[in-house]
Amino acid sequence: MIQMNNVVKKYPNGVVAANGISIDIKKGEFVYVVGPSGAGKSTFIKLMYREEKPTSGDVVIAGMNLSNLKNRQVPQLRRQLGVVFQDFKLLPRLNVYENVAFALEVIEENPKDIRKRVMEVLDLVGLKHKVRMFPNELSGGEQQRVSIARSIVNMPKVVIADEPTGNLDPETSWEIMNIFEEINSRGTTIVMATHNREIVNTIRKRVIAIEGGLIVRDVYGGDYGYEG
Ligand code: ADP
Ligand code: ADP
Repeated sequence: MIQMNNVVKKYPNGVVAANGISIDIKKGEFVYVVGPSGAGKSTFIKLMYREEKPTSGDVVIAGMNLSNLKNRQVPQLRRQLGVVFQDFKLLPRLNVYENVAFALEVIEENPKDIRKRVMEVLDLVGLKHKVRMFPNELSGGEQQRVSIARSIVNMPKVVIADEPTGNLDPETSWEIMNIFEEINSRGTTIVMATHNREIVNTIRKRVIAIEGGLIVRDVYGGDYGYEG
């Protein structure tokens, strides 16, 4: 589902944030990406959703090589890949329903089907009763639920999450993890960068540890493994 072949990312300032990364993530896997601050986790994640392009090497998502992706193919990538951020990135002037519907890459669907799909994902994240509320009327956990609903509304094969619980209290973080587990149990591949040691050590999954732009550990059912 996700392959990286010898990926190097050198930023214009000379920093090498990925220094020859190769990885193979299969359909249906749940993968944590861990490592100290500045290790290259965000860069690794950004390379997967084409926020950054590799300096050399290939990134392949659901059979699409992102290096040769044409601009007109970006919508096709968006349908295969949902993204969840630490700071939610909801559109403040749109209500909950509109924030989710907006991300839908509509391909010959009638308005009734669109409405049905949006309500389905809002139901899955437990927010069906708040469709008319605006982001600033929601708690952090609720905003993250909306952003998760937005990420899956296109029924993507992969969901990428960069520190999705980073702004949430512990209890809310566990609730958000339950939603990711539910999405994963339906067959969606999940890649999640996280600093949350307790979650990684409790809900055991594949752990990819990055340091200095390199994968230094890759263990199924691994632990968080860092101090502090
Ligand atoms: P992490 O997510 O593990 O904290 P990042 O991928 O954000 O690591 O950063 C890895 C390295 O790349 C750091 O040294 C960081 O300062 C640098 N870096 C990240 N983004 C950029 C950028 N846009 N331009 C220049 N350097 C960057
Ligand atoms: P832009 O090109 O400026 O990012 P878009 O119209 O493509 O704007 O997207 C609008 C909003 O929808 C963005 O804030 C983005 O976060 C969200 N979005 C679009 N596609 C996806 C996706 N596949 N997963 C998660 N969010 C998405």
